[in-house]
Amino acid sequence: MRSKFFRGLIILASSLFFLSSYEPPKAETITREALEIVHDKRKLASLPVDEMMRLYIDCNHKTYFTDFFEYTKTPKEISQGASKRKNLEAFLRDYFNEEKTRENFERDSEEIYDPLGGRGNFQNSFDYPRIRLNRWEERHEGIDIFAKLGSKIYAPVSGVVVASSDDWVGHWDRKKGLVHEGGGLSSLSGNGVLLFSPKDTSYYFMIHMDEVYVNTGDVISQGTVLGNVGESGNPFSPYSQPHLHLAWKKPGFSCNVENALVAQNPYQNLVAARKSVNANN
Ligand SMILES: [Zn+2]
Repeated sequence: MRSKFFRGLIILASSLFFLSSYEPPKAETITREALEIVHDKRKLASLPVDEMMRLYIDCNHKTYFTDFFEYTKTPKEISQGASKRKNLEAFLRDYFNEEKTRENFERDSEEIYDPLGGRGNFQNSFDYPRIRLNRWEERHEGIDIFAKLGSKIYAPVSGVVVASSDDWVGHWDRKKGLVHEGGGLSSLSGNGVLLFSPKDTSYYFMIHMDEVYVNTGDVISQGTVLGNVGESGNPFSPYSQPHLHLAWKKPGFSCNVENALVAQNPYQNLVAARKSVNANN
């Protein structure tokens, strides 16, 4: 018990050390060390969810419950976060490739797999303006797929689960709006999964789930059941129907920073994935 605890501490300390170095990595030593840690626990370097979410969220993110736009990061912080993320990605890619040789991947195609397996409805809602009740206006950086509560959600690509959580607790209050008591990936996201795709260095962010079946650090094949459609996070509002919010990001130039994560529109890929599922049914 005791040694497990200390091992956990060492893992946490070494992963934080690993991520806090902005120098070009001494790939050999850092990667091997990190891989040992991962193989030991089958868990991804115990990187806390909030730390991972800070690396994922871009410069357009604003704090909730403020009366004015307030960027959560300075350009310097975005730039440092991008460097940290790049180191992490190199490590995740090695980890994925090592694990992949052990696992027998059911599916691993170049095209994405329909995250709802042919169920539910969606339209091109990417970039729609969204107004948070009396708070701010922002762009919708993803596609909403409306489906019945409890519908299975599948991994669109093979990859590494870099953040996951299903312990979101909150409710909708007519006067206060969204009341978040804790858990989940964030107050607005609710329960969900952040999946890293080593093939094209991209991230799939799937949220508002009910249950989540995968854990941080899992290496999964395309089509793996990640969880099911829920109402956690923002959709707890009386105005929205149960849906999966799917966002897709890749490194690019944004906020005057090279290698920041930039939202991509997954609509065309989703349409193709839906067609392919329907053709096979
Ligand atoms: Zn959405």
